[in-house]
Order: sequence, then C-alpha cells, then structure tokens
Amino acid sequence: MDTIGEERSAENNMLNSLATGFANMALEINHDCPECGEEATFYRSASTELHLGEKTKWRCTECGYGFIKINGIDSSVA
Ligand SMILES: [Zn+2]
Repeated sequence: MDTIGEERSAENNMLNSLATGFANMALEINHDCPECGEEATFYRSASTELHLGEKTKWRCTECGYGFIKINGIDSSVA
C-alpha cells in the first residue's frame, strides 16, 4: 500500500478546493463596461455581508464605472 501517495492526493484535493474558494472570492473580474463599450477588468472596491447575501461593489479599472452585485447577481439594470 502506498499511504504516502494517498496522503499527497488528499492534500492536493484540499489545495484544489482552496483554490476554488479563492476563485469565488476573486478580487478582479472581467465584465462588460458600458462606459468603455467593451469588456474591461473590474476590481472589487467593497464587500458587505447582508442578510440576503453578500453585496460587492465593482469598479472598472479603465474608467471608474461602478456596479453592485448581490450574491453574484449583477444589480445594474440598464
Ligand atoms: Zn470602463
């Protein structure tokens, strides 16, 4: 039996799930920017825990346009 190999793969699984968690907590996303007229990089400028979920504010790195997401749902209605 190769217990060391099993431990290593368990460790890798843990690291993978950690990486997935970090991806969900991304500090930057690509999003269509109405000001830039194309997809731009947005950074998370604020994050607030609400009773209905997490509210995050995103801001365009190109022009400063901002929008809000609640539970990952884009709340900016055109
Ligand atoms: Zn922009």
